[in-house]
Amino acid sequence: MKEFSCGDVVPGCTASFRASTDGELMMKVAAHAHDDHGLTEISSDLADAVKQHIRVAEHA
Ligand SMILES: [Zn+2]
Repeated sequence: MKEFSCGDVVPGCTASFRASTDGELMMKVAAHAHDDHGLTEISSDLADAVKQHIRVAEHA
């Protein structure tokens, strides 16, 4: 499982996500960024920042 906490990129945000693949995780993060942060698209800079903070969860 891959894991990402939005607060690692957006200070103060408490949302966190889990998915089996990076791609699936990015889709969840993109949907959250759109719905909760008003971002209409994920810039490559933001995508890179997210990828740098993706963790591998020990327990699926
Ligand atoms: Zn967030």
